[in-house]
Amino acid sequence: MEYRHIKIPTTGEKITVANGQLKVPDQPIIGYVEGDGIGPDITKACLRIWDAAVTKAYGGKRKIHWCETYLGEKAAGLYDGNYCPDETLKVLQDLVVSIKGPLTTPVGGGFRSLNVALRQDLDLYACVRPVRHYAGVPSPLKAPGKVDVVIFRENTEDVYAGIEYKSGTPENEKVAKFLKQEMGAKFFEGAGIGIKPISAFGSKRLVRMAIQYAIDNGRESVTLVHKGNIMKFTEGAFRNWGYEVAREEFGNVTITEEQLYNEYKGKQPEGKIVIKDRIADIMFQMMLLRPDEFDVLATPNLNGDYLSDSVAAEVGGMGIAPGANISDNCAVFEATHGTAPKYANLNKVNPGSLLFSGVMMLEHMGWKEAADLITLVYPEVVSDGIVTYDFARQIDGATEVGTSQFADALIERINGGVDLDTKRRAQQELLAKERKQREIRRLLQPMEEMVDTGRVPHTVGDLMTHSLMTVSDTESVEQAMHTMTDNNVSSVVVEPNAAGEWGILTRRDIVTKVVRNNKSPASLKVKDIASRPLFSVPAETSIHEAATILADKGYSRVTISQGDKIIGIVTETDIFNAVEKYGAAITE
Ligand code: NAP
Repeated sequence: MEYRHIKIPTTGEKITVANGQLKVPDQPIIGYVEGDGIGPDITKACLRIWDAAVTKAYGGKRKIHWCETYLGEKAAGLYDGNYCPDETLKVLQDLVVSIKGPLTTPVGGGFRSLNVALRQDLDLYACVRPVRHYAGVPSPLKAPGKVDVVIFRENTEDVYAGIEYKSGTPENEKVAKFLKQEMGAKFFEGAGIGIKPISAFGSKRLVRMAIQYAIDNGRESVTLVHKGNIMKFTEGAFRNWGYEVAREEFGNVTITEEQLYNEYKGKQPEGKIVIKDRIADIMFQMMLLRPDEFDVLATPNLNGDYLSDSVAAEVGGMGIAPGANISDNCAVFEATHGTAPKYANLNKVNPGSLLFSGVMMLEHMGWKEAADLITLVYPEVVSDGIVTYDFARQIDGATEVGTSQFADALIERINGGVDLDTKRRAQQELLAKERKQREIRRLLQPMEEMVDTGRVPHTVGDLMTHSLMTVSDTESVEQAMHTMTDNNVSSVVVEPNAAGEWGILTRRDIVTKVVRNNKSPASLKVKDIASRPLFSVPAETSIHEAATILADKGYSRVTISQGDKIIGIVTETDIFNAVEKYGAAITE
């Protein structure tokens, strides 16, 4: 296609996508949009840093051939006032990978936000925001280094679908009448109405991308963040569809958190990613209290909007948070802040957000060595106190430098030689150590860990006591009673008899079968009074089902089986404690 203003470099080759896989030549052509306001300052600085990192990492074998494309004010100047020319949308699609600075959305005049236009026209369905802390960056947290998550926010559905009816309009009245009269809905007269569509298609493609990212980047878990306890058929469905994708398309490399606790006793098997879910409000707490428990997050649109900014703020990263909007065959990386017009052309602002969006871009292309060079030298420069004005005002004794001087300092470090291997090894050792500590905590205190990491129990497997007290048939009842007293339990599981049947002996049995019958505990054997066969259920039985069984059968405990083994026990007290702690969420 002939472009009016865009000049595709004659050197370099286009990146392509085949069968969902990116094919990146050594000399790729990559699109960039300079952006408005501070855009030119940060873009100029970042292009130099990215190029320096690529040259250093690959010794000249690889090189990016940049292709300038136009959006925003620069586009308006070139394309007769058009802020979002068709040929730019076309070229971004054609080049597959691009990066853009911040853009001004003109106020009034019926303009669509440029970012919304890009998202919709290129169907960029995932907004991806990695959030991690860099040493030296000011943060309100005590241990910001524990934050290292990548948030995948669904970008096309939810309350952002734009299906809204303003109070007082005929459309609103029509929808309200339908909802009240035909659907039996109840709400106040004249309420504004918004619709929240969340589909299996939209949810699954987002979660699929998040899981694939976790696999490609050796991440430990993917957490589905939802408000399904309240919005069952939208947010709850998102969670269910997420688990479905994991099970059906990634079954050989994923396990659920339930399996982690119940089948693997808290020890994460090598090569498996844990799929878990958290209720959105709990997730906000967790990202402050136990951020290291989380890795890749997948979430519907609105939760993702709040969460991305709040987590970025935790690590002092609002000004340096990177982002990207991605589809299956096109990715646009972007600075997440605005155009800060008062600083335009002053060579003053922090290039961090765009810089790290470029790091994400290099990682997306598989150019990890170049990406790592930047992420490893960045904290060194900042820790030396060489920072732009925004960090300088938060760090005592810092040296304030301009945007281009900050870029110079980074490039000097990159060219000065960085021992990537040693730094990477140290990072991996730290990750392995932290992972081991989490495993030990899960192993030793499963219930406490569940509470502390914000997990809501849903099955008997989540609640069960693992360390079972067992006695044998041939022991005296007196001995079995000592076992119960010494371990402060009200029942013991009886090992299988010759017929292979497990049994149970409870304190109630002592009252009804020993004391009431005037027998001596010393003269009776366990087999004389134990109840057989034992009624047990699989670990995945829901708490609601278990409660129904206990109520219907008049039992006060149920044992948990795996094949022909008994692996745990859940009592009325366990269920009572869980309801007391989590409320109705445990049966949802
Ligand atoms: P903004 O441009 O993000 O600026 C708000 C404040 O954030 C600045 O005054 C500055 O704080 C700080 N800041 C932003 N970028 C910085 C950087 N690189 N380095 C250091 N500090 C930085 O938000 P806004 O003023 O609300 O929006 C201005 C324009 O940007 C609007 O036209 C809006 O539509 C557009 N916008 C575009 C995007 C986008 O394209 N992705 C996103 C948001 C907004 P101090 O004043 O404290 O120094």
